[in-house]
Amino acid sequence: MNLDSLVGLADGLRRGDFSSEELTRHCLDRIEQHDAGLNAFITVTADSALAAAREADQKLRNGATHALTGIPLAHKDIFCTDGVLTTCGSKMLENFIAPYDATVVTRLREHGVVMLGKTNMDEFAMGSSNESSFFGAVRNPWNTDLVPGGSSGGSAAAVAAGLVPVATGTDTGGSVRQPAALTGITGMKPTYGRVSRYGMIAFASSLDQAGVLCRSARDAALVLEAMAGFDERDSTSAPAAVPAFSQQLDGDIAGLRIGLPAQFDTPDIDRGVSAALAAALQSLVDEGAELVDIELPHTPLSVPAYYVVAPAECSSNLSRFDGVRFGHRCDNPRDLEDLYRRSRTEGFGAEVTRRILTGTYVLSAGYFDAYYLQAQKVRALINADFQSAFAHVDVIIGPTSPTPAFALGAKTDDPVTMYLNDIFTIGVSLAGLPAASVPCGFADGLPVGMQIIGDHFDESRVLKVAHRYQQLTDWHLRRPPAYRSDA
Ligand code: GLN
Repeated sequence: MNLDSLVGLADGLRRGDFSSEELTRHCLDRIEQHDAGLNAFITVTADSALAAAREADQKLRNGATHALTGIPLAHKDIFCTDGVLTTCGSKMLENFIAPYDATVVTRLREHGVVMLGKTNMDEFAMGSSNESSFFGAVRNPWNTDLVPGGSSGGSAAAVAAGLVPVATGTDTGGSVRQPAALTGITGMKPTYGRVSRYGMIAFASSLDQAGVLCRSARDAALVLEAMAGFDERDSTSAPAAVPAFSQQLDGDIAGLRIGLPAQFDTPDIDRGVSAALAAALQSLVDEGAELVDIELPHTPLSVPAYYVVAPAECSSNLSRFDGVRFGHRCDNPRDLEDLYRRSRTEGFGAEVTRRILTGTYVLSAGYFDAYYLQAQKVRALINADFQSAFAHVDVIIGPTSPTPAFALGAKTDDPVTMYLNDIFTIGVSLAGLPAASVPCGFADGLPVGMQIIGDHFDESRVLKVAHRYQQLTDWHLRRPPAYRSDA
């Protein structure tokens, strides 16, 4: 069964080539066969998936109209799923059964999507390599000695290995785009506020945004339009109408103005990554697009600003895990202070602890002005850089990640080197812009991602450019050899 296109799967379901139950069993078999080597899943919900698939088959027989009816999907384990283990990759929530569904989960279910399970992730979505998960690292299907990227690494590996056709992810500073790039798949992070954060466990509330990991821009468009839209349960969700992204993909890109930021051309970029990107840009120019040099002068400050803002918000969000209401509780606390201290020390891993300490520090009385306020000002400057660029260009293109996938363990002892992996994605998050990562070639046999950034709420254009590129190339259809369907 070919999981490369949701439209293809939807057609197959409607023609009766296979049922949703058969498709779901196929995915469950693939998970059974391959997941031990990848560790992409924390929970597989086989029984409820098959029940949902049978229900979808009934709807299809009754003439269900939505393209996603009967399509299997995995959710990143950051989304609350009613009655199902929801860990956020942490020992803190090792036994947490969510009592309700996140809005993203509800909306996709209402479209007839079949949930296969919950994917592995960096603890509380903090990481770029999926090595901070309490449930162990995820491996990259292109080479299992390498990381898949993070924090949505389980979702990325599951899609790349063809275990599922699509998975949800979240992106706070790059966590949809970077793992998509490192595993050779398509990742779409919409504008901040486009998708409800209700029931999505909070890391940094002013940055967190749900996204899609899948094989193509066409698939991303279909899933995004089902997930997106105003939700009265999230006060930061945007009251903007959701365009029919999947209906706006076609058309040429003649005259498209592509901004190339001078600051994205750094000596740290792997030569193979630059070469793949240059070739991709050339193919867009051949289609009539125009390249425009632009400046995003505050780009070098984006990682430092993010590592003040994100930890500050995380220290506040994660204070709710106190061992009292839910989450890990230490044994035999002596008193309340001991309960808090030991529950949190035992429940959180090293990276999360580091972020909480940094965040508490930058928010503390003597340092608030020097760090937090300053970082917020830098954030405004970064946003202003993008806004002046979008006065002249339609999209901005650059690499998603400076290098292809790196070895497991290569950066775990050096958090700052790990943080710098997100240099091209983090500014986009600070500005709340939509961006996609699409496969654009290989460097040393490993996939390379091209990042396409749009102005606020201009997802349609990002997806259209990505789609046009995918009509011209087949990088997005390449599969890691060990996981091809016939392997
Ligand atoms: N790698 C970044 C971090 O560790 C971004 C993570 C994310 O987008 N969730 O915070």
